Amino acid sequence: MRTDDFRHQGLRRKLVEELKHKGISDARVLAAIGKVPRHQFIDDSAFDRFAYVDQPFPIGCGQTISQPYTVAFQSELLKVKPGEKVLEIGTGSGYQTAILCELGAKVYSIERHRPLYLSTKKRLADMRYRANLAHGDGYKGLPVHAPYDKVIVTCGAPEVPQALLDQLVEGGILVIPVGGDAGQSMYSLVKTATGVEKKEHGAFSFVPMVENKVRG
Ligand code: SAH
Repeated sequence: MRTDDFRHQGLRRKLVEELKHKGISDARVLAAIGKVPRHQFIDDSAFDRFAYVDQPFPIGCGQTISQPYTVAFQSELLKVKPGEKVLEIGTGSGYQTAILCELGAKVYSIERHRPLYLSTKKRLADMRYRANLAHGDGYKGLPVHAPYDKVIVTCGAPEVPQALLDQLVEGGILVIPVGGDAGQSMYSLVKTATGVEKKEHGAFSFVPMVENKVRG
């Protein structure tokens, strides 16, 4: 692990201010962004200076760590309460996972690329984050630990996978970007007794959610 020095902390405070200006208002989410050292999630320390720029960044296997604004936006929509069970699809670098841990969630997260799953498992353990990581296909969810209070998808899904709705409690929230390669719309869905209530929250751009292609 790298040090978290005054320069990193200063850059993080600036990032929090930037996200406030961009419309993030949930104080707990902003505090989590202010706390998690995002530079630890970027493998090469030569790129440290990009860690607190509001941009996505390559993390290997052709994937990216999501833009801080996107992480904050999805976290805000998820309305996480301490102690809730949250399922994340697309662990990637583990940055969003760490934010969910800071929000007090009991986190389960799935990644399809084995090298990312392994490196992120080590990173989060080194950082003392206790998340339950799995290597597999997030399309199927993680039925062994279901139901979940909240589900967050951090890759662009062609449609809402039914398995994820099935594994949500009644009153639970699913936050998911839906769309193709050209971009996605962010949706939040609340599971009700009779179906789902769906809201759209604008355009985003994610790496694709890929079905049935778990990589060793
Ligand atoms: N939350 C991550 C975002 C990483 S990008 C972060 O902040 O770093 C999205 C991730 O979703 C990629 O690592 C990609 O490999 C993964 N992914 C795509 N389709 C998937 C699927 N069907 N199951 C599990 N993970 C998937």
